[in-house]
Amino acid sequence: MNCTDFLAKLTDYFDGEIEPELLAEVKEHLGTCSHCDVVVNTTRKTIDVYRGHQPYEFPDELSDRLRKAIMDRCVKSGVYPEVEKSADPQPR
Ligand SMILES: [Zn+2]
Repeated sequence: MNCTDFLAKLTDYFDGEIEPELLAEVKEHLGTCSHCDVVVNTTRKTIDVYRGHQPYEFPDELSDRLRKAIMDRCVKSGVYPEVEKSADPQPR
C-alpha cells in the first residue's frame, strides 16, 4: 500500500467500514509513513470536535484538502514519486 492507496481508504477507515485485511494494510502503511500518520492523528482530533457538536459527516472538501496535503508532503520527501506531471504541456 502506498499513499494513494491509503488515501483511497481513508474515509472508510474513519467510518469504520473497512475490511480487516485492508485495515491491517492501512496500519502497516501508517507505521512506515509519518506523513499519513500525522494526517490520521490530526483528522481524528478534528472528527472528535465535529462529533461533539453535530452528527458526523466526512466533508468532501476536507477529504480533498487532506489528499493534496499528503501528496504534496510525500512527493517532496521522496516517499512517493510525483505522478501528476506526466503530461508536459510544453515539450520545448
Ligand atoms: Zn503515506
